[in-house]
Amino acid sequence: MVTHDSRKKTGRYWDEYVETLSDSEIQALQFYRLKQTLERVSSCGFYQKRFKEMGLDISALECLEDLSRFPFTTKQDLRDAYPYGFLCEPKERLVRLHVSSGTTGQATAMFYTQKDLESWADLMARCMHMTGARPGDTFQNMMGYGLFTGGLGFHYGAERLGLLTIPAGAGNSKRQVQLMRDFSTTVIHIIPSYALHLMDVMAEMGVDPKRDLELRIAYTGAEPYSEEIRQRIQDFYGVKTYNSYGLSEMNGPGVAFECPEQTGLHIWEDSYLVELIDPDTLEPVREGTVGELVLTSLRREAMPLIRYRTKDLTRIVRGHCPCGRKHRRLDRIQGRSDDMFIIKGVNIFPIQVEQVLMNIPEVGNNYLIVLQRENNVDQMTVRVEVTDRTFIEDMRHLQRIQKKITHELKGELLVTPRVELVEPSSLPRTEGKAVRLVDERKL
Ligand code: ADP
Ligand code: ZN
Repeated sequence: MVTHDSRKKTGRYWDEYVETLSDSEIQALQFYRLKQTLERVSSCGFYQKRFKEMGLDISALECLEDLSRFPFTTKQDLRDAYPYGFLCEPKERLVRLHVSSGTTGQATAMFYTQKDLESWADLMARCMHMTGARPGDTFQNMMGYGLFTGGLGFHYGAERLGLLTIPAGAGNSKRQVQLMRDFSTTVIHIIPSYALHLMDVMAEMGVDPKRDLELRIAYTGAEPYSEEIRQRIQDFYGVKTYNSYGLSEMNGPGVAFECPEQTGLHIWEDSYLVELIDPDTLEPVREGTVGELVLTSLRREAMPLIRYRTKDLTRIVRGHCPCGRKHRRLDRIQGRSDDMFIIKGVNIFPIQVEQVLMNIPEVGNNYLIVLQRENNVDQMTVRVEVTDRTFIEDMRHLQRIQKKITHELKGELLVTPRVELVEPSSLPRTEGKAVRLVDERKL
C-alpha cells in the first residue's frame, strides 16, 4: 500500500497528495479543518467572549462562506490580549514562543505546540522543495535567529528537507561571504535589503558571486520589495530568486511561496484560508483586484487565529498555475496599508518610489524617503545612494542624474520630490527589515 508518507520526497512534489488536490478537494479539506479550528478557538478567552456577544453558533456553519459571519481578529486584539489571551492549549503543551518583529508597534507573542512546529517545518520543506532545493545543497540562512520567525522557521524546514544547513544568522557580512566560499553554499535565505547591502560588501572584497561562488537559489522576503530589486539580486548573484511570504501570526514564513513558474506565490490552502477585503468597507473585493489579505489558520493548535487582518495588500492571480498546484497564487505584496503615506493629497507607497529608482542604472542599492513639513507645506525628500562607479566617474554629471531621477519620480508619483544624491553605503542600514520611510511630520 502506498502510504501518505511514502509519497513524500519524490519527484517534483514534496507532498504530492496535498499539493495536487483539486479545487473541490481543497475546499472540502478546508471546511473540515475550519470546523475543527472554530471548535478549538471557542475554548480560548478572546473568541469565547466575542462569539457569545455576537450570538455565533459554530454548529450552524454549513459552508466556507459562513465564515463571513465570524469576527475579524486584528493585531490590536492580539496586543490587548497579550500574552496569553489567545491560547487554546494548556501551558504544559507549549514548546516554543516567537515574537513578531514589531514593525508597526508593540510586538505580539505566538505560541507553538510540538505538532505546530512539525507542521510548520513540513510547510517550509514543501516550499523549498518546490523551488528545486534538494539534499546535497548547502543552505545558508542569513536571517535573524531568535524571537524572529524567519530564522528558525526556515532552519527546521531545511533540515527536514535534508539540506546541509548553516545557521549563519543576520549581519556580519564578511563572514557570510567567507562561509559561502568555504562551504560552497548553493541556497540562501536573505532579507532583500540586506541582499543589496551584501552586494556592496562583495564588490568591496573583490568577490564576484558568478565567478567565485556556487549560489543557485535565493529566498527573499519579510519585507516588501519590487520586481526591480529581484532583478538586481538575480543578476548580481547569478541565482533564481523566490519570493517568500509569511507572518508570525500564521507561524511565520511558509504561508505563501513562489514556484519555479514565478507567476505569484502559492498560498498553502490546506493550512490557511484566504479572504481579500476592502480595508474600508470590510467587504470582499472582486477576485483579481487588490485588497487586504485576511487569513484563518487551519492547522494551528496552540494559537489558531480566525479572519486575521494582515494589513498586507495584494491580489489573487487568476487561473491555474502551469506547475500543477491548484493552491491559488498571491501577487507580490505591495506593502502594508500602514505603509501608505499622503503627500500633497496624493497616496503613495514606498514601493512605487523603489520601482522607479531601481530602474535607473546610476542608482545604487539603498534609498530613504523623508517627509517633512516646511512652512505648513509637506515636503518629500528622496535620499538616493548612487553606485560606486557613478560616484567616482560621473561626479561632474551628478546634477544631470539628479534631474533625471526627479523627472522620473514625478512621472510616476505626480508630485515633485526633492532628490538628494548621497555616497554609496552612506544611508543607515538595519540588520532586519529595512526602514524606507521617515515621517518627520509626526514628530
Ligand atoms: P511584523 O508584522 O512586526 O513585521 P513579522 O516578522 O511577523 O512581524 O512580519 C510579517 C510581515 O512582514 C507581513 O505581515 C508583511 O507585512 C511582511 N512581509 C513578509 N514577507 C513579505 C514579502 N515576501 N513581501 C512583502 N512583505 C512581506
Ligand atoms: Zn506554480
